Amino acid sequence: MSLKEKVIKKTPMFVQSSAISLFNTYQYKVRHGGEYKKFRKYYAKAENFSADQLDREVQKKQKSFFKYVKKKSVWYKNLNTKNIKDNELLEKKDIINCYDEIKTIADKEGIVSLTGGTTGASMKVVYTKKDMQERFAVLDHFRAQHGYRLGKKTAWFSGKNLITERDIKNNICSHYDFINKIRFYSTFHVNKDSFDVYWQSLVKFRPEFIVGFPSSVYELCEIADSLGKTLPTSAKVFFPTAETVLPKHREVIGRVLGCQLIDQYASSEGAPFILECTQGRLHIHPLTGVFEVVDEHLQPVQSGELLVTSYTTHGTPLIRYRIGDHITLADSQDVCTCGSIFPLVKRIDGRTSDYILSPTHGKVNLGNISNSTKNIEGIINFQIIQNTLDKVQVLIVINDKFNVIEQDRFIAALQERLGLQLDITIEIVDDIPTEKSGKFRIVKNLLGK
Ligand SMILES: [Zn+2]
Repeated sequence: MSLKEKVIKKTPMFVQSSAISLFNTYQYKVRHGGEYKKFRKYYAKAENFSADQLDREVQKKQKSFFKYVKKKSVWYKNLNTKNIKDNELLEKKDIINCYDEIKTIADKEGIVSLTGGTTGASMKVVYTKKDMQERFAVLDHFRAQHGYRLGKKTAWFSGKNLITERDIKNNICSHYDFINKIRFYSTFHVNKDSFDVYWQSLVKFRPEFIVGFPSSVYELCEIADSLGKTLPTSAKVFFPTAETVLPKHREVIGRVLGCQLIDQYASSEGAPFILECTQGRLHIHPLTGVFEVVDEHLQPVQSGELLVTSYTTHGTPLIRYRIGDHITLADSQDVCTCGSIFPLVKRIDGRTSDYILSPTHGKVNLGNISNSTKNIEGIINFQIIQNTLDKVQVLIVINDKFNVIEQDRFIAALQERLGLQLDITIEIVDDIPTEKSGKFRIVKNLLGK
């Protein structure tokens, strides 16, 4: 726990809320100051670029980014600026071990962002203020296309743990930033016991927009759904962050909160953006960077591992960065009815490391595993953990619709996906903890860890 969190946890609630508003207002000024307005105009204009114009702008952005990086970063002093594919990949461990060589500015000159790595090693990157302003311009432009602006009532489910068990017992599950009208909900305490506290708060708050981890919002909605509850005043849009969105997230959250789910892909290390349009399709934003999709031999494929090069990472440059996610591109002749010429992505498949290794079926990915609860009653939440090659442990949180028949159907669905040689043990639990980052993981592959 950081000192700031310690201080906040011991401070009375009203003072806490003020501190959060002030903190957010400072962040807001950094993110929305400087060149932010210029970038907002630029990204609005970019929607109407012709193919030629877009191509010229992309070349311009890439050239200027590469020139800067080659000059300022020791790590990239031999960067091939003409052909991006001639450059080595950047791995997560490189950022952890060689941070000082890669980065181009001192931490105190920029904005430091910490990422909870999957292996426990925490990773740090530093952004220039200008890049941060550009990134927020892209995001705000995107959210504005879906009706959002700052000051509209928003419920935020983020990874900051500012609530204690005692707060929950006192019916407190959030902090309110009254200047920006954002209510920050804890994602660490969503479960059956605390459901009423969260639900009453949401019903009373009547948010227009929801932002945050889809797994947390989903869990809350899943409990509400099992109790036959829907939000009396529908929200407009849910903008998920940080995790892969699954079809069941969309379905249940939409039904309970009455809102649309509008997805995006980005990351705290500074990946370029993939954004959902008004027609519900995902577009790569070519002015934010390069997305290469490759197979294990680094050859281009339609569905595979993602390598990103991001033009808004002057502080800690990412060039051909192996971010650890899988995506599937749309067919090249596919055109979107929204009118945008930005390239289409068929789907974001999630993290490369989110798979179970089966002796008979090989790597079984997250998307496939998460479908195993389809049409099975009574499972609110589950997590599948693999420690050894021959067995998996499945934790489930259930409601009273769950019984032996449903359990057998669930095991059969898992066996269909994982094969019969993997021993499956089911354990019913009250709650499945989130990771240190506050994110929830359906698949935990601990092989070799
Ligand atoms: Zn579109």
